[in-house]
Amino acid sequence: MNCEELLRQLAAYREGALPEGICAEIERHIGDCSPCAEVDQDLRDLARLCRESKLPGLPVETRRRIEALLGRRHEPPSSD
Ligand SMILES: [Zn+2]
Repeated sequence: MNCEELLRQLAAYREGALPEGICAEIERHIGDCSPCAEVDQDLRDLARLCRESKLPGLPVETRRRIEALLGRRHEPPSSD
């Protein structure tokens, strides 16, 4: 798996949506490739921030883009 393939599948990987064999390839790649490991770390940080709603005042459109990037379906915010 090259970097481009990895980045394309990273969001799905984080969602747990990929078969075990692909996950193993991704984990191996991230272990060897520091740029991809950084992207993976950023994605995890973003996902955590979204989950914890620690993005105060973030425009809905921006949040939607982040969620799209993370491969999540947009759920209408309950409070804003
Ligand atoms: Zn890579």
